[in-house]
Amino acid sequence: MANVDYSKYAKLSPFELKDELIALAQSKTDRIMLNAGRGNPNFLATVPRRAFFQLGLFSATESEFSFSYMPEGLGGYPRPVGLQQRFDHFVLENRDKPGVVFLGKAVSYVRDQLGLDADAFLLEMVEGILGCNYPVPDRMLRISESIVKEYILREMGVQGMPKESLDLFAVEGGTAAMAYIFNSLKENKLIDYGNKIAIGVPVFTPYLEIPELNDYQLEEVLIHADPNMGWQYPESELRKLEDPDIKAFFLVNPSNPPSVKMSDEGLAVLADIVKKRPDLIILTDDVYGTFADNFKSLFAICPENTILVYSFSKYFGATGWRLGVIATAKENILDKKIAALSKKDKDDLEKRYGSLTTDPASIKFIDRLVADSRNVALNHTAGLSTPQQVQMVLFSLFNMMDSRQDYKKAVKSVVRERDATLYRQLGVDIPQDPNSVDYYTLINLENTSRQLYGDEFADWVMKTKNPTELLFRVADETGVVLLPGSGFGVQHPSARASLANLNEYQYAAIGDSLRRFAEESYQEYLQIVKKK
Ligand SMILES: *Cc1c(COP(=O)(O)O)cnc(C)c1O
Repeated sequence: MANVDYSKYAKLSPFELKDELIALAQSKTDRIMLNAGRGNPNFLATVPRRAFFQLGLFSATESEFSFSYMPEGLGGYPRPVGLQQRFDHFVLENRDKPGVVFLGKAVSYVRDQLGLDADAFLLEMVEGILGCNYPVPDRMLRISESIVKEYILREMGVQGMPKESLDLFAVEGGTAAMAYIFNSLKENKLIDYGNKIAIGVPVFTPYLEIPELNDYQLEEVLIHADPNMGWQYPESELRKLEDPDIKAFFLVNPSNPPSVKMSDEGLAVLADIVKKRPDLIILTDDVYGTFADNFKSLFAICPENTILVYSFSKYFGATGWRLGVIATAKENILDKKIAALSKKDKDDLEKRYGSLTTDPASIKFIDRLVADSRNVALNHTAGLSTPQQVQMVLFSLFNMMDSRQDYKKAVKSVVRERDATLYRQLGVDIPQDPNSVDYYTLINLENTSRQLYGDEFADWVMKTKNPTELLFRVADETGVVLLPGSGFGVQHPSARASLANLNEYQYAAIGDSLRRFAEESYQEYLQIVKKK
């Protein structure tokens, strides 16, 4: 491998690079590939899934009951009359099944703790899981929205905001959320060709790529997190947002890949900036918020400015389900900015949304997102499939009903133990930071070299070793796939490993293999130093 030309890899996008690394890691048949590049977790919440399937069986029976004659396989709409009693009976009959027990408790919880109408809830769930109606309202089913709001407010650290003050749009995961938001910001002239937008880096790469697309051609102002500050954004970087030409700030919090939540100091600076820049749009992708200790979203700090994206993919191990939400506050600057557009822009938008209502100017931004998600014309069949909304509700309830937070503690300790194992095997200090979420880790080449063999060795590594080459060597020789931090906008040579998708012994193997390379490099270094 020593004389392989790695320069050809330099131009690849992070995702192409990943494919090349995987190909190399798989090229030897006598071993398993360890792909630590993937964000997909290898753990998942089972009880809310059991509940989903049990509810499905109950609901299918309900549907068949609703027709007096019952040809095989033909059912009707579930009947609300007596539904609650039949459900209670079902729960009693199946009380040995964990999914059913959970369902029974969920209905009580919704009634007693959340103060919602349990009959209406049950009917929404039964009809929803059967998927026998278009999603109405298209933005989100009513009781489902109320429950998921409660989950979002709690998990995103929002205090003192009543549920009535926010709106949710249920979407097909964080991915759809991002695509919809970029599109509607543009369609509604809130960002325009050539506008400046700020992006917190390092970041999940699509946030760097989408704004550069032909559709947007935005000018990117990067807000760099500082590795020497535990990957927090220094105040001087955040203050760049005071530039009135910057229309919006996009960030992932907790970040991907450094995997730290924004510190209280950072949040305070942002709150101050928003006072000076009440027009600044903030898009915060808080997919990892549920893994943090005492998380506080920017949505909690400046709700009027902030569009919040949350996904159920990572925390519940549900990437295949495609579940996410977009949240906005009822009082928000997006609607105010739309109201303040020029006459010509407003006329254009009246035309765009004219088919939906006689007063298109009154349509809120979040409802424009819904309409735009189906090219406006197909608005009446927009919305997330109802069975998906049911699973989303069951995930949310599962988390809220777990008063000891056992699931949360379990997933947090899983990723944190893997982190500790990797660094222990590598032979360096385990990074300690109260803001750290440890869903990913960035293994810093320079710091690691320094800790293992001292300053001079670290300087030599930085001068002579190509970090991409190191990743290809690791992939080739050990079958371990790590991604280069550079692909995510990390400035220091580093490797990103997801701590979510392999087993503990495999993180030990990654630590071992990196340690071996460090040792070999050190021997090489000693040879060269001796020759001098
Ligand atoms: C994984 C991830 C997403 C994608 O979430 P989905 O809900 O699976 O589409 C979005 N944002 C960030 C930062 C992610 O890491």
